[in-house]
Amino acid sequence: MAIEIVYEKDVDPSIIQSKKIAIIGYGSQGHAHALNLKDSGCDVRVGLREGSSSWAKAEEAGLKVTTMDQAAKEADLIMILVPDEKQPAVYEEFIAPNLNAGDTLAFAHGFNIHYGYIVPPADVDVIMCAPKGPGHIVRRQFTEGSGVPDLICVHQDASGHAWDTAKSYAWGVGGARTGIMLGTFAQETEEDLFGEQAVLCGGCVELVKAGFDTLVEGGYPPELAYFEVYHELKMIVDLMYESGISFMNYSISNTAEYGEYYAGPKVINDESRAAMKLILERIQNGEFAKEFVEDCNNDHKWLLEQREACDNLLIEQTGKKIRSMFTWIKK
Ligand code: NAD
Ligand code: MG
Ligand code: MG
Repeated sequence: MAIEIVYEKDVDPSIIQSKKIAIIGYGSQGHAHALNLKDSGCDVRVGLREGSSSWAKAEEAGLKVTTMDQAAKEADLIMILVPDEKQPAVYEEFIAPNLNAGDTLAFAHGFNIHYGYIVPPADVDVIMCAPKGPGHIVRRQFTEGSGVPDLICVHQDASGHAWDTAKSYAWGVGGARTGIMLGTFAQETEEDLFGEQAVLCGGCVELVKAGFDTLVEGGYPPELAYFEVYHELKMIVDLMYESGISFMNYSISNTAEYGEYYAGPKVINDESRAAMKLILERIQNGEFAKEFVEDCNNDHKWLLEQREACDNLLIEQTGKKIRSMFTWIKK
């Protein structure tokens, strides 16, 4: 079952250009949405906590900045871009009291709506515009003339125009240049969590760590192991990204390609695929969300322990040393 994808020709920019937009939060996604929308001719204000360190940064970038409740009050489209675990409290205190019938409430990830941590009133539109990429790339690609694809969704269509608003918003952040996919909150929430857990972040990082450890335990120098299974990963992924797996295979040697077919399924084997299925099930039945929220409510105890352990790994120490020699990567 294919997903519908729309492009620049299918979108009416005037919808988003005629709205007053509040971007709540100025982090990874917040700065990208705010600046791209402003450059797309939209009326943007950024809503921040009083005394926020981002306040001056957003103003220096030429944006209007005000408090979160004032931004929500002025706007008729409110995009919530604070961390997922902070959204319910921010919504209750600053957004909900300032929502009017006919407003649009927007998200870049479906977590709080899908799992029911935020329940908006019935008379507002609830939409999502989720860029399928990190915020800094959303901004960088926009300024370069391309754009990160967006997944847009409608949870609640009070006005009857929620899809047109979502398409127009996604155009404003640059998504129409590469493609705006039309999906559901459930699809976005579940596939996004699965992707980051099983493949993009969890799977990829663990694969690299395991490969590095295997080489180092086999007596190979850490620096050599780092260049092999960490640094070179980007070159291989770039080839896949630009031209497909077949082209990547064409670019590597026949020896490497033979090894790919032979060894890949031994590493990512039936057991790994069963583990992926289990991870997807725990996302679908809400167990992952519950566990994550519990850790957030416990001051991120588990998360912070894992973060510290990661910083201390040999692969991280080796990488830090090696990358500090790259004059081209300094900034
Ligand atoms: P972030 O952590 O980069 O930024 C959060 C912003 O909110 C910061 O400006 C921070 O100062 C502010 N903030 C933090 N706590 C706050 C509080 N208690 N009250 C008010 N403001 C507070 O967040 P992000 O990664 O940009 O994520 C925002 C949303 O975008 C999330 O729903 C996330 O799932 C989604 N998303 C993120 C990415 C990404 O590239 N990071 C990609 C797709 C979707
Ligand atoms: Mg994602
Ligand atoms: Mg995510």
